[in-house]
Amino acid sequence: MIGFRTPPGGGAIALLAAHCDDLAIGAGGTLLTLCTARPGLRVDALVLSGGGTEREDEEHAALAAFCPGADLRLTVLRLPDGRLPAHWDEAKEAVEGLRARTGPDLLFAPHPGDAHQDHRGLAKLVPTAFRDHQVLGYEIVKWDGDLGRPSVYQPLAPEVAEAKAALLHEHYPSQRRRPWYDREAFLGLARIRGIECHARYAEAFHVSKLTLDLAGGETRCGCC
Ligand SMILES: [Zn+2]
Repeated sequence: MIGFRTPPGGGAIALLAAHCDDLAIGAGGTLLTLCTARPGLRVDALVLSGGGTEREDEEHAALAAFCPGADLRLTVLRLPDGRLPAHWDEAKEAVEGLRARTGPDLLFAPHPGDAHQDHRGLAKLVPTAFRDHQVLGYEIVKWDGDLGRPSVYQPLAPEVAEAKAALLHEHYPSQRRRPWYDREAFLGLARIRGIECHARYAEAFHVSKLTLDLAGGETRCGCC
């Protein structure tokens, strides 16, 4: 099992998402686990769409709840939902802007195999700006049926998995009308990922590159 070593000064993570609620769905339990264990962790979050709408308000309240005790800095942009390929330059500029203002030990982002074009497009932008950073690609259950075989797991305590489902319901009222947006779906996937890593519940992530530091010296990738 590989740990996340918080460097002196508290450490930092970055969160990238195409839409409000992606981060909470894909990594909410992991964020709760990580931030609870490391008060003061710096969290820089960038969401490409939803700015200026009720969804931005939801995202601010939700991430504050999912990152308790963190030094959270969230930016929500106004790129149109479902149109990322047509706004590629703005998205790239935003990702590079995030890179310029933070040097995270760990980065959470969509993964390149995601069937949603906005998620997939953002995933492809990430390594162009974050070249020496450990990226964990979160998964989002959806109509397209793109769940694959992730290789990295964060086990979740049962109370954390329950808290994730409850916070998703509480903080995103705009999404409750979606037929898949319910406690059963969130806990169901977490239960399956838990089976795969010998835990009750878990969140899983896709990793395309992993740099080890087995000598235990200077931390390069932030995960060993
Ligand atoms: Zn999304």
